[in-house]
Formats: sequence, C-alpha cells, structure tokens
Amino acid sequence: MSDGIRRTSADLRTDRAHGARIYDYILGGKDNYAVDRAAAEATKQIWPALPVHMRANREFMHRAGRYLATECGIDQFLDIGTGIPTPPNLHEVVQEVRPQARVVYTDNDPIVLVHARALMSSTKQGRTAYVEADLRDPDTILASQEFRQTLDPSRPIGLMLIAVVHFIEDDDEALDVVRRIIDVLPSGSYVAATIATDDFAPEMLAEVRRTYHEHGETLRWRSHAQAAQYFHGLDLVEPGIVQMHKWRPDNDTARNVPEADIAMYGAIAHKP
Ligand code: SAH
Repeated sequence: MSDGIRRTSADLRTDRAHGARIYDYILGGKDNYAVDRAAAEATKQIWPALPVHMRANREFMHRAGRYLATECGIDQFLDIGTGIPTPPNLHEVVQEVRPQARVVYTDNDPIVLVHARALMSSTKQGRTAYVEADLRDPDTILASQEFRQTLDPSRPIGLMLIAVVHFIEDDDEALDVVRRIIDVLPSGSYVAATIATDDFAPEMLAEVRRTYHEHGETLRWRSHAQAAQYFHGLDLVEPGIVQMHKWRPDNDTARNVPEADIAMYGAIAHKP
C-alpha cells in the first residue's frame, strides 16, 4: 500500500473481450489479450474508422481536461471509467495547467488497477488516487477514502465520464447513476462526457454492437435526445452536444474527419 493503491488478486477474465483492453490495443498499448485483439480486428472489418473514432475520444478527453483547468478554474477531478493508463493521462494534462490539481480515478476493470501505478505520477503540489469501483454503484465511489481525502466537496469538481456510459446498457440505470453523482457535486462543478451514438452510421454500428456482444462485451448506442438527458438541469457550454471531434477542435485533422467515422457525442456542462 506504499503507493496508495489497494491490491486485489485480479481475475482479468481473458476469455472475453473487455472494452478497456480493446481501447488499449487500438491506441497502441500492450495491456490486451488475444480475445481483445480479435474483437478489435473483427470490429475494424465492419467499421474501419474504429481507430479514428477511438483516438478522437482520447483527444476529446485531453481538450476537455485542458478546457476545464484553463478556462473554468477547475483543479479537482473525478474521472470515472479511466481506462488503462495511456500518456498523457488526465492528471498530466490538467497539472500542466494547474500543478496543484487533484484527480481521483475510478474504473471497474481489474486490469486498470494492475496498471494504476502509472496514474500515481502526480506533481508534488497535486495529488492522484485510484478507486476500483463501478459507476453503477456511486455510493461506493463517493464514500471511498480516496474520494473523501483527495477532493474538497465544498469546491467545484470536474466530473469526467469519457466513453463509459455506453457500457451500461439499461438507459434508466445509466441516467440514474450519473444523476446521483451530479446531485452531490457543488454548484460551479462541470460534467464532461462522451456518449456513444449510432446516429451517423446506424447500419454499420448495429453490426459493431453485435460483434462486441459476440466477443463478450457490452455496447449501447444513444440518440442525441438521449445524450441530452445526461445534462438535464445543467448549462451546456458552447457548442453544446456535438460529435466529439467537433467540440472545440484544436486542429484541422479533426475537423476533416467524416461524420460516419465518429460514433460519440461530446459535451461539457456547468452545474448552476
Ligand atoms: N475514459 C478513458 C477510457 C475509456 S475506455 C478515455 O476516454 O480515454 C472505458 C473504460 O470504462 C474502461 O476502462 C472500462 O473498464 C470502464 N468501465 C466500463 N464500465 C464501467 C463501469 N460500470 N464502472 C466503471 N468503469 C467502467
């Protein structure tokens, strides 16, 4: 426990594909197994844009973190569905702007815990912590020592839900757990999210979902109207809920990507 990471004897379930490991494979990481690579390759056969889409998601996370730290003064973050560490991680992005920034990371996949040491490279002035917990169980996250000892609940928090709600298939449950977390955030907090959608390539993405299921992983697409429900009662920052590569793009490459290649909405909203 010297590095603040709780150890478990992880069951990595290498008999079925995991979203975290498919994403790692596509982003060029090494923390994935044959079943994950098979799922990724099968998905690419149907939808060759998968790597473009996944890289655009990671880039949205970077822009969102930088925007919150730079423009909104946010220096504490709760990141749920962190994924396998891939530099730059959220704390590296936000501590570049605000060295004192604190980040609590959360994921329910034991492989993320195995590699969580890479999330502990905080600046001296800042701090990071990792909680193994499930978004479907917000109470465990909010009651954890890591959350309570790392973040100040009386000051605005940046809640990051990047590429995670599509792993909860039940629409009501996904909305409910997100609302329960937003409800406890203080006024002035922000929510940044990417929400998977098949609005721009419905036929191909129906096949993608089937392929994920065949390899043992869940995936739920949501419409623009459904995505908007996650931000109910919050003030959306311009340009609102748009395909994630169109949310304040910082280079032309992102701008020129075809709509059918991006299956996520991205948005940031402010809690009044
Ligand atoms: N947020 C990162 C990683 C996205 S990959 C990024 O956008 O770059 C999605 C991550 O969500 C995976 O690591 C997966 O394990 C995690 N995840 C999926 N369902 C979850 C749940 N119910 N609770 C917590 N994490 C979950």
